[in-house]
Amino acid sequence: MEMKTVRVRFAPSPTGSPHIGNIRTALFTWLFARRHGGVFILRIEDTDRARYVEGSVQEIMLSLRWLGLDWDEGPIFQSERLPLYRQVAEQLVQSGHAYRCYCTPERLEELRRQQEAAKQPTGYDRRCRYLSEQERAELEASGTPCVIRFAMPLEGTTVFQDAIRGELTFENALLDDFVMLKSDGFPTYHLASVTDDHTMSITHVIRGEEWISSTPRHVQMYRALGWELPVFAHLPMILGTDRKKLSKRHGSVQFVEYIQQGYLPEAMFNFLALLGWSADEDRDLYTREELVERFDLSGVLDHPAIFDGQKLLWMNGVYIRQKSIEELTQLCLPHLQEAGLLPSKPSAEQVEYAQRVIALEQERIKLLSEVVPLTEYFFRDTLDYDEKGVRKWFTQPYAPQMLEMLTVRYSRLEPFDLPNIEASTRAVAEELGVTAAQVIHPTRVAVSGRTVGPGLFEMIEVLGRERVLIRLRAAQHMVHRTQQAAATE
Ligand code: GLU
Repeated sequence: MEMKTVRVRFAPSPTGSPHIGNIRTALFTWLFARRHGGVFILRIEDTDRARYVEGSVQEIMLSLRWLGLDWDEGPIFQSERLPLYRQVAEQLVQSGHAYRCYCTPERLEELRRQQEAAKQPTGYDRRCRYLSEQERAELEASGTPCVIRFAMPLEGTTVFQDAIRGELTFENALLDDFVMLKSDGFPTYHLASVTDDHTMSITHVIRGEEWISSTPRHVQMYRALGWELPVFAHLPMILGTDRKKLSKRHGSVQFVEYIQQGYLPEAMFNFLALLGWSADEDRDLYTREELVERFDLSGVLDHPAIFDGQKLLWMNGVYIRQKSIEELTQLCLPHLQEAGLLPSKPSAEQVEYAQRVIALEQERIKLLSEVVPLTEYFFRDTLDYDEKGVRKWFTQPYAPQMLEMLTVRYSRLEPFDLPNIEASTRAVAEELGVTAAQVIHPTRVAVSGRTVGPGLFEMIEVLGRERVLIRLRAAQHMVHRTQQAAATE
């Protein structure tokens, strides 16, 4: 049997910022194309002018590029192919599989109201399907606007094979005569999608589960046109950990927000690939190449996928730890700049300092944007002191003397490096007759304002002598004020 080249498409509608589920569909489709040496096409389904949102095409393309989902053809815009759809609709009218419907919006509205009042299923009553030749000619002559509807078979079933769910059967009697071409000449999704999938020689239609109810309509159109059916594969929906439909409540649903928050493309790629697909192995971490090697529709789940934001965060941390410190620094710089901690054009020295700071936190950062709260005290001239830390440690009777001693020792250290910092700090504790912890804790508050952070000696080394001495001096004033206030209470 001759193997056809796999040709697949990602066909988003530019109706807003892409949703996490849209991008998951893109990723699965891309993986399938790459796995089979096929062609991945980007098709923009922009025929619904009322729902068009400016800027969404850009956001879609940005998201795909960011993840490294390169397309081989496109973007193809459906709005530029209107004559093609009209021609297919006319062809179906000619062959008796479609008809012109002249019903006014008012009539359809009235019909729906009556159906609802009578508790009947709503839908078009097919009045225009049965117009006589003469009635049709009169309506045409009067120039009444019309749409083109598909004439669904009235009985029987539509059966198709879904690559993920197996055989699916739909009762034709429950499917209405849907509109294919609107009165303004624009096609509906059904007409444009089927026409394009056929003319672009799409072999596998991979899309979200929410489109499953459209597929029997599409199958009927393929049959009426005498076109060969593609393979259909409907991807499972995505639920939150509470098994409810993924929504704002579960965190961001818009893909670009993940980019902004500082997720890495590698982590997002890995995470999304497991959102409804599994290689049946006991592992979570895969490189792109490993996923391309393994991905297939047989591994796609036929039950909903659960979006676990904690797992994504964990995975992001794993990929952050795998980065070289130079690379991680480059990734963190925009976040530091945006927070005003670094200028827009930092000097080589500033970047070097940032790199040493980030190295102290590489193990802890799970999200690039976290670099700001985790490290801001390295960059600011004035500190926000942790209140509890001040109350506990700056009130110690030995605190003023300790700060004085540290100031003297640190200013003489040569070189100002980790072993010397550690030794002189421990010596101060010994001379004061207190434990090392009793010096380390207040010193941490003095130089960072905080009670937690990276190892104190490493932190002091990175801050550098000058900053540390300024901070010790500020802390001396603070200790003085705190102790005075306590004394007058
Ligand atoms: N335009 C549809 C969407 O936004 C495409 C559905 C399909 O892939 O057929 O998801």
